[in-house]
Amino acid sequence: MPKIPDDIVKRVQDAAKIEDVVSDCGVTLRKAGVNLTGLCPFHDDKHDGNFIVRPSTVPEKRGGNTYRCFVCDKKGGPVTFLMEHERLSFPDAIRWLGKKYCIEVDNVPLNYTPPPPRPKPAPLPVLEIPRAYVVRTMTIAQEQSILFIYWLQHLPWDDEQRARLQKTLWMYCVGGWRDGRVVFWQIDHTGVPRSAKLMKYLSDGHRDKTQHPGWIYNQDGVRQRLDPDKHEILKPLFGSHLLNRYPKAVVNIVESEKTAIIMANYYGDFDSQIWLACGGLKHLQLDSLQPLIDQGRTIWLWPDKDGREAWQTVCDKLGYDNCRVYTHFFDTCWREEDGDKADVADIAIRMMRTGDKPRHTTGEGQGATDRLPAGGPENGATLPPKPDNVTDDEWADHLAIMKAIGDYEIIHPGDEPFMPEDEMADPRLRWMRETLRQRYKFNKRHTT
Ligand SMILES: [Zn+2]
Repeated sequence: MPKIPDDIVKRVQDAAKIEDVVSDCGVTLRKAGVNLTGLCPFHDDKHDGNFIVRPSTVPEKRGGNTYRCFVCDKKGGPVTFLMEHERLSFPDAIRWLGKKYCIEVDNVPLNYTPPPPRPKPAPLPVLEIPRAYVVRTMTIAQEQSILFIYWLQHLPWDDEQRARLQKTLWMYCVGGWRDGRVVFWQIDHTGVPRSAKLMKYLSDGHRDKTQHPGWIYNQDGVRQRLDPDKHEILKPLFGSHLLNRYPKAVVNIVESEKTAIIMANYYGDFDSQIWLACGGLKHLQLDSLQPLIDQGRTIWLWPDKDGREAWQTVCDKLGYDNCRVYTHFFDTCWREEDGDKADVADIAIRMMRTGDKPRHTTGEGQGATDRLPAGGPENGATLPPKPDNVTDDEWADHLAIMKAIGDYEIIHPGDEPFMPEDEMADPRLRWMRETLRQRYKFNKRHTT
């Protein structure tokens, strides 16, 4: 049997997509973040989630175009899958793929006929998390000591920065979990909560690296309610809900949620600049930037010091004129002592300590006229009284924020806020819940 030429083998391998091959062989896959999962075809699998397919859309160096089972440890690419699953020889696997992807391999008849492509499974509904969950975690952040927030409060802010910190935290809907983790909500630009990341921080402001970040939909008591396995889960950029609220602001994108919050509070001028976070060096992805591009926003990318090249590549691929990697801050403010892995917030904090001021301006002096008015009742609707321990300004801000995330529909019938009965004795929590009820009534009155 003549050997298949190397260049043909390479062409076939380049064309082959693991997700197609696995589904053609009868494995039903569903989306789980960037990956796909299904029941492992190599062992008697009862639990969807052990068999992971990293689709061909993921770059090769990040494990794209492969499959792996974490129980029986079968792994490989499209060719290996066919050899193992269909029991084909290597040349026959190449022929199988050649037939599927219309690449002429050779004249040797194939011992196996690929099945006709299966129809794609129906897309899953996209997960929408009730806004009451957001409010609930924000309440916990007020009530309980969350180390991350405690650390933020004790940074060497100047008076102005310190005065707006509570507002900044509210703007980002920063919440807490009962075990002390901070909750970073991922609310999309239309105001719908899509996900939230739960992270544990230490008292020095560093993340507790012994614990992986958790996701809200996987937490006890939440998982059953939201049933994430039956949904597609979106992860919009942290802070996306601010986009429509500040339509003229330059959109600065940093890696971590912590950095976004610190920089937002450091500069404060939300009308001219807002800060969004993608969650990490490798999480800046083209699809999450699409809503910003659709809005024609000016995007400045602020990678960590060691991430410039990677983000420049993303920026180049984007081919969007209003996006650039912003390095001026690093170029003018970075010092040896900040280290080679510094992010912009590390430098800002060091400057706060030493009293240095940044020798640059951000934003481009864009207009401040489109800012939403600071909340308050409309059309004579009555709101619950302001709690005693909240100032007028804080209250107005709170209302504006709740408006920004669209809480008019915050409680749907049968969709009670996530609040156990025993916590209802707390007056502050009762107030929060009452706020929600009032608003819901308000909404009903004006829509029917
Ligand atoms: Zn397996």
